[in-house]
Amino acid sequence: MNEVRYSVVVPVYNEEEVIEESYRRLKEVMDSTNEPYELIFVNDGSHDTTLDKLRSFTATDSRVRLLSFSRNFGHQTAITAGMDHASGDAILIIDADLQDPPEVMLGMMEKWKAGYDVVYGKRLKREGETVFKTFTAKVFYRLLDSLTDVDIPVDTGDFRLIDRRVCDTLKSMPERNRYVRGLISWVGFRQTAEEYVREERFAGETKYPIKKMLKLAFDGLTSFSYKPLRLSSLLGFFVMVLTALYFLFIIIRNIVLEPNLSPLYTIAGLIFLLNGIILLMIGILGEYISRMSDESKGRPLYIIAEKEGFERNGRGRDTHGE
Ligand code: UDP
Ligand code: MG
Repeated sequence: MNEVRYSVVVPVYNEEEVIEESYRRLKEVMDSTNEPYELIFVNDGSHDTTLDKLRSFTATDSRVRLLSFSRNFGHQTAITAGMDHASGDAILIIDADLQDPPEVMLGMMEKWKAGYDVVYGKRLKREGETVFKTFTAKVFYRLLDSLTDVDIPVDTGDFRLIDRRVCDTLKSMPERNRYVRGLISWVGFRQTAEEYVREERFAGETKYPIKKMLKLAFDGLTSFSYKPLRLSSLLGFFVMVLTALYFLFIIIRNIVLEPNLSPLYTIAGLIFLLNGIILLMIGILGEYISRMSDESKGRPLYIIAEKEGFERNGRGRDTHGE
């Protein structure tokens, strides 16, 4: 067995008001497992006293690890760095503000022991968050779900447990604008939910202003859906059909009803036609761009969960998967 059974990854950005309490609660829960663990705090370029506080934890507790970024790289990057440096058999990702109650991790561990590779926290309710945040989150998760082919569960954040093999697969994926929860869904294996009530922030304010929320939403959308790129082909097609009907209309009108119909009708028709062609061409560009995007993501082509009987022939090494 590995020396460290659980790695808890905590991204931290300007959390001086909560970090001591989070550390206390996390330690309490992890001690109760009676299994070896490490707490990895990733300081994402905080400019308050957070870093000093984190350093004081490492000074007194050998199970605490600290990664500190040179500047703010963002929540998703902080989580990624934590996973890259984790050595546990299972990796737990949890926010520093105690909105995700650490006790819920115990339930996740139970499910992991029962054989699941990913146990994601599913929010039944969100306490103490603004109507705006709850509403936008709800709309976004459903929009993303309807636009993507990957089954990304709705109302889940990054609070989850992942098995070592899921973590290793993620490490092999070099893409930059990471939407980690989507990547974890994409990886597959056996996944299940652990339901919980998202608490109010213990102290301090959200570190996710609208700008960061939008960036996350667009990363999620562009990493997992090319439908917006294809919208233009669809519109182009629609405009072309309408244009054809329109020309039919003016031709009939010109011949049957009004032989000297104003040329403005023809000009309007040509404008429709040209716009339709332009939209279609943009859509074709979209098809190429989506394929380039696929190539540049560098995701493995497939992921093998089990392999048996290959030792016998000693050949057949795959070069595309991980
Ligand atoms: N966070 C981070 N970098 C950032 C923004 C946030 O590491 O640029 C951390 C933050 O300290 C917290 C977690 O990510 O542990 C989630 O952030 P927050 O609680 O502010 O988001 P919310 O719960 O409001 O969506
Ligand atoms: Mg929070």
